[in-house]
Amino acid sequence: MKDAKSTRISNGVTPWCRALAAVCALALCLAAGQAAERPVGFAYDARCLLHDTGDGHVERPARVVAIRDAVEAARLQCRPLPARPRDDALKWITSVHTEAYADRVRKSCERGDAFLDSPDTPVNADSFDAAVAAVGVVLNAVDAVMAGEVPAAFCAVRPPGHHAFADRAGGFCLFNNVAVAARYAQKHHGRERVLIVDWDVHHGNGTQAIFYEDPTVLYFGVHQRGIYPGTGAVGETGAGKGEGTTLNVPLPAGSGDAELIEAFERKLVPAALAFGPDFVIVSAGFDAHKDDPLGGMAVTAEGFAELTRIVRRIADECSEGRIVSVLEGGYDLDALAESAVAHVGALTD
Ligand SMILES: [Zn+2]
Repeated sequence: MKDAKSTRISNGVTPWCRALAAVCALALCLAAGQAAERPVGFAYDARCLLHDTGDGHVERPARVVAIRDAVEAARLQCRPLPARPRDDALKWITSVHTEAYADRVRKSCERGDAFLDSPDTPVNADSFDAAVAAVGVVLNAVDAVMAGEVPAAFCAVRPPGHHAFADRAGGFCLFNNVAVAARYAQKHHGRERVLIVDWDVHHGNGTQAIFYEDPTVLYFGVHQRGIYPGTGAVGETGAGKGEGTTLNVPLPAGSGDAELIEAFERKLVPAALAFGPDFVIVSAGFDAHKDDPLGGMAVTAEGFAELTRIVRRIADECSEGRIVSVLEGGYDLDALAESAVAHVGALTD
């Protein structure tokens, strides 16, 4: 236990040390002739708006518009990544999903079905094209980061992906954007070990299932216990050769910044450093925000910024800073926009 004297000394010295360190860092930065900024990629594609979930649905086109507008208004050090269509998006989608499933998504939309697999996953005639476009955005972001055009990138895309399985839809998800990005980083860019950090309030059951027996992808999921989809227990740790490369931290409702930061510091950081990823992907859902209508957690925008800084420390240590972050959930437009700005800001700091 700290005594009064050590507390007093600590309180007296720490601010001066911090101030001195900040001055030294600034001086070093100026001496090196570098601006204190780190422009990161920001990816947005209007085709993602074509996925129409119907009146009143929380997973709506306005989500990514709100993020785009807020990031622009915040004047962050971002470089917009061009929304370049990809002829090969479907090829990479089927490196994760079965061809039969990809075909089923397309035909379901062509037929004008109201939903795919369950009423959880509404679709319209353009949903297939929007979902393929979302994957294309993420592939472009991986390319931009691997080419060194930007050190990191955030993709404001929808439909989200982390509940999508290899052969079926789930939640509000059609194709698993982050899973396809991980496979693309490996097969196209020669990355060997990919870390996926999923802080959406819901467990990323699709992503976990896709890589459950794969020792080359470390899936880390922190989520609210007892809500959809009901998976993500501590005991779910992978299987076969993938035993140990799935890591879940279910937290009780009401958990906030402190609990998530502790989970990252105590569980994610040591596991990630031992794994040694050469590429890092974030499933960036913002529905653990205190104002989110679906989640029951209490994370703030600054909390998401701090989680981002922890992931950056891992990436700086292991993957030359390479991070591709992909939007998942987040359903209160103000909270979503504020959180995304904090997240992108922490990537650029
Ligand atoms: Zn979610």
